[in-house]
Amino acid sequence: MAGEGQAIKAVNPATGDTMEPSFGGAVPADVEKACALAAEAFDRYRETSLEQRAAFLEKIADNIEALAEPLTERAHAESGLPVARLQGERGRTAGQLRLFAKTVRDGHWLDARIDPALPDREPLPRPDLRLRNIAVGPVAIFGASNFPLAFSVAGGDTASALAAGCPVVVKAHPAHPGTSELVGSAIAKAVEDAGLPEGVFSMLHGADHATGTALVTNPHIKAVGFTGSRGGGLALMKAAASRPEPIPVFAEMSSINPVLLLPEALKARGAEIGKGFAGSLTMGAGQFCTNPGLVLALGEEGLDAFVSAAKEALGESAPATMLTPAIHTAYDEGVAKLEAHSALELIGRGGESTGPHQSRAALFAVDHEAFMNDDALQAEVFGSSSIIVRCRTAEDAAQVLERVEGQLTITLQMDEGDTETARPLLPIMERRAGRILANAFPTGVEVSHAMVHGGPFPATSDSRTTSVGTLAIRRFLRPVCYQSISESLLPEVLRDANAEGVPRLVDGDMKIN
Ligand code: NAP
Repeated sequence: MAGEGQAIKAVNPATGDTMEPSFGGAVPADVEKACALAAEAFDRYRETSLEQRAAFLEKIADNIEALAEPLTERAHAESGLPVARLQGERGRTAGQLRLFAKTVRDGHWLDARIDPALPDREPLPRPDLRLRNIAVGPVAIFGASNFPLAFSVAGGDTASALAAGCPVVVKAHPAHPGTSELVGSAIAKAVEDAGLPEGVFSMLHGADHATGTALVTNPHIKAVGFTGSRGGGLALMKAAASRPEPIPVFAEMSSINPVLLLPEALKARGAEIGKGFAGSLTMGAGQFCTNPGLVLALGEEGLDAFVSAAKEALGESAPATMLTPAIHTAYDEGVAKLEAHSALELIGRGGESTGPHQSRAALFAVDHEAFMNDDALQAEVFGSSSIIVRCRTAEDAAQVLERVEGQLTITLQMDEGDTETARPLLPIMERRAGRILANAFPTGVEVSHAMVHGGPFPATSDSRTTSVGTLAIRRFLRPVCYQSISESLLPEVLRDANAEGVPRLVDGDMKIN
């Protein structure tokens, strides 16, 4: 994993100090080697039995858990995130690897189908047709800065790609190279223990964009998973689309996650919702892709209670160290722009900073017309900053929802009496977001079978799938049809015996062995 190029050292955002040791950045030959090894490993890895692949994913989970406190301590020093949060994230990382192991075993994702031959069909016979999904090939994964464990080297993108049968080459995030190295070694050890080819997993450090660009444009790479800035995601999409062989990029970029306060709920529970909202806004210094950056308040009754409770809770919120100096600077600049905006009213700020790279939460309010007149107000300010839009009617809220860009989530705070207000908004929400939720806050994403962490651009580059949950495996699969191929040449899952017992659609009927 150590390259010959420019060395990278982590910066502790809580102190500003550079941390030892240094990690060798990749040179072009390192990128080529990792990708060539991945291509060499592909056919063998993708044909591992379901049991073998599932056991491999479970072994990675065990190895990560065995890294124990030194892992969370290093991640804490590199990211500024609290140790308790990182312990939870370590559990989530292991948990999602185990969930994908279960998914691999159950075999639904293969989408196995058999249309038996109809030799006597008139006017023409039908040949024997069998289909299964296969892995797309080696995948490049970019670790996210805001989840140094659960969305980084062994995070959801890597777990789903490995589950699909794709070798993975990770571009470690430069903000947490030491954490990346520890987790990368845990995966490499699982590869070795499982007797798999070494190219099943590689990791590269990079001191600038050249490493990521070389990875995405390497001809051995067949798909890309990314979480980060819109600029980074767009640059990688452009690079992938300009290749002689274009490839898909599954990029999760920006979202402001509108929260709608419907009139009855606002009237009945304004203060309670305000307090809960402030908790969601300030959690993890607001550095979640699902952070609630926009509130649409429908009606006036209860709005004062919501605003006062949110303001009070924000005022009591402690300043929090942000992930990197650059992310902190971008946050402060974003908030300063909002503070200078003539149409915005500053509602409240979080507690004063007491150390380097700490952010203070910020809450603003604006009238519906002013929001509709300035698209700049819907730009994501990554961190705990949010804007309340005062809507007089449900139609005002509908206009805003029609205007905002694609989102990961839209939340309804609603009571029984709000059902008919919500009903006409639902089709708009479906067009705008990947997840619609009621009476909760968007932060906190369950890793499960029915989760969608995706949505129309710019929330993601491809709204047809998700980056969290088991459905994420589909990003890295493609169907292959076998026509009149003899039993002995067919892949195991399509042979008549169905030795691995996978569910199959036989002549249009689902058969579960
Ligand atoms: P980033 O700048 O997009 O970087 C993410 C990864 O992509 C890094 O490995 C970076 O490495 C690489 N990269 C970035 N631009 C690239 C380019 N043009 N070509 C090739 N590789 C590129 O994200 P970040 O450092 O995590 O945070 C910066 C901003 O991203 C934040 O302030 C926030 O606005 C946004 N962000 C959003 C989310 C979200 O969940 N929506 C999460 C994290 C960050 P190199 O710089 O070494 O190339």
